[in-house]
Order: sequence, then C-alpha cells, then structure tokens
Amino acid sequence: MKLFISLLLVVSIQSCLSQDKKNSAKKNSFKVTKTNAEWKKELSPEAYYVLRESGTERPFSSALNDNKSEGVYVCAACKTPLYKSENKFDSGTGWPSFDRVIAGNVAFSKGGNGFMGIEEHCATCGGHLGHQFNDGPKETTGKRHCINGVALEFIPKS
Ligand SMILES: [Zn+2]
Repeated sequence: MKLFISLLLVVSIQSCLSQDKKNSAKKNSFKVTKTNAEWKKELSPEAYYVLRESGTERPFSSALNDNKSEGVYVCAACKTPLYKSENKFDSGTGWPSFDRVIAGNVAFSKGGNGFMGIEEHCATCGGHLGHQFNDGPKETTGKRHCINGVALEFIPKS
C-alpha cells in the first residue's frame, strides 16, 4: 500500500512539472506579451514587420541612421531603453549602429540564418531589433549592433 501511495505521489509530481513547463512555454517568458492583433493596432506596418516578423528595413530609410543627438534609443514597442547615443557610430551600412547595448535590456539568440549573425531582441517584449556582428570599431568593443531604426524610438536628452 505504501509503495502504491509513493508511486502515486511521484506520478502526480511529474504531471505538475510537465504542466508548469507547458505554461511557461506559452507565456514565452517576456514581461510584455501581446497578441499579434494587439501589436498590429499599436505599431506602424513597417515597425510591425521588423519587430514582430523579424523583417529588415531598407538601408538608409530611417531618419535615426544619421541622428547624432544625445539621448537614448528605446524599443518602439514597449519603450525599454536599449542603446545610448554615446555608443552609436557611423558604420556606413545604412542602419543605425552601436558598439554596445544597454546591458540586460537586449536579448541575443542564434538566428536561423547563420550568415546574418546573432539576432537581437528587446528583452522586455521580445521584439526583433537587428543583428550583432564582429566587425565593429576595434578601439572599443569590436562589435557592431546593426539595428533597424523603425524598431527604435529616440528620446533626446533634456
Ligand atoms: Zn520592447
């Protein structure tokens, strides 16, 4: 009988664990989660394409590419600060480029396409931002964070 009860206990614990796993996968662990329909309502079609569908804007299409003002670049979807103006540099690629991120606010993942480098996401809402490459300025970090301007919003220093 004792054996039967402990077996039952093991089985019920295991089913709890697998239930938890299923739930956390559904929530995909981002603090801000919205449905595609909700994002579509809030974002411009261009921003939706980049942030939610991992698209890439046309080079030199973002006004932020040439922006040299002091301030902070936040996520266009959830306003989390992601990059600082002091870390921005002109890479000549046509996309806003930074030599570092605001630590902890950007998440990295290996994109499906190895050619494209490591993918960068907003750590708060999961929105796609761009890619990280290893051909950045040698005198600082050597990294180039190649970011879609439409995924960002610039907050000038006041
Ligand atoms: Zn975000």
